[in-house]
Amino acid sequence: MIQILENVDLQRYNTMAVPSVARFFCRATSVSELREALAWSQTQHTAQYVLGGGSNTLLDAEVNGLVIRPEISGWEVVGEDKDVVYVCAGAGVVWHTFVMECIENGYFGLENLALIPGHVGAAPIQNIGAYGVELKDVFHTLQAVNCESGELIELSKLQCEFGYRDSVFKGRYKNKQVITSVTFSLSKAPRVSVQYPALIEELAKSNVLTPTPRQVAEAVIRVRRRKLPAPETIPNAGSFFKNPVVCEDFALRLKAEYPQMPQYDAANKRKKLAAGWLIEQCGWKGRKAFGVKVHDKQALVITNPNRVDVGNILELAASIAADVKLKFDVSLEREPKLLSE
Ligand SMILES: Cc1cc2nc3c(=O)[nH]c(=O)nc-3n(C[C@H](O)[C@H](O)[C@H](O)COP(=O)(O)OP(=O)(O)OC[C@H]3O[C@@H](n4cnc5c(N)ncnc54)[C@H](O)[C@@H]3O)c2cc1C
Repeated sequence: MIQILENVDLQRYNTMAVPSVARFFCRATSVSELREALAWSQTQHTAQYVLGGGSNTLLDAEVNGLVIRPEISGWEVVGEDKDVVYVCAGAGVVWHTFVMECIENGYFGLENLALIPGHVGAAPIQNIGAYGVELKDVFHTLQAVNCESGELIELSKLQCEFGYRDSVFKGRYKNKQVITSVTFSLSKAPRVSVQYPALIEELAKSNVLTPTPRQVAEAVIRVRRRKLPAPETIPNAGSFFKNPVVCEDFALRLKAEYPQMPQYDAANKRKKLAAGWLIEQCGWKGRKAFGVKVHDKQALVITNPNRVDVGNILELAASIAADVKLKFDVSLEREPKLLSE
């Protein structure tokens, strides 16, 4: 049976540590509790919001509605064939713990995604990715509850419409389905993906030529710890902007003007630019404004050391985006979304 709490402080439930109060709040530890919570918000005619680990979400000072936190725990092997193990994890499982437990058990493919904050249930929402691997590369199916009917459905990889930091849950299914579990297709053989330059460098530093999956995960963890602030000590929401993807012609013109500009191949002959580099070129790295700060080791990360309101963060983000637009004619898109958005 769910417990609906009133006027709950959400500051500890978001990694940006913005002050925020939910009018109503509940945890759902099973599919039936989730259905109960959704039904409650329908009968009360109140809006409902889903919050996982709060590491990719910006919270308004007041959230007028019911905030549901899916806390469905545990994972299990649900099938296997000659090469692959199918592992199903509850939406409330902490992502990094899951990654490390899979490696320990000999289920491989998640190593490059180590140390990404958040819960399993949110990982498909933006098709999390790091160091050359995306969730879609190891995704099999997911289960979700329809917010209106309470029906439990299963979606395949194709139906999730994964793209760069994107999925159907940011489009057609936005606020319409709550993910309850995700099933991964993991390799029994210890295959690794080491293509990303920072990862290659890190492994080379320790003279590891043929790394094991665990060594890859450990290298990823070391690089991330060096580059990114830990939200527990310096509140942040990771990359604040997506890397912009532009057409080839425009990328060529930019390269002619700025020969140092990093550019990477993207789908459909387009080019991906490094948002952090663009921001750094505009002089924002390490700068403070509106009570918030651009991280001094990575310009793509906005930190909130003074735990100020979301409005301040949005003002800083708008100033950064305006400068990048003016200098490069490139539009930056914010990655973390407002819960009410
Ligand atoms: C330091 C740091 C580093 C990061 N590095 C990376 C990185 O390398 N790569 C990357 O891709 N991301 C990265 N992120 C972003 C973030 O960790 C991921 O997007 C993560 O998957 C968010 O999980 P969460 O549980 O915290 O989601 P939340 O922030 O709680 O939610 C995100 C969105 O998903 C929705 N949601 C949450 N759970 C569910 C559910 N069960 N069903 C339906 N909707 C749901 C929410 O309503 C919200 O819209 C980083 C963040 C931080 C703070």
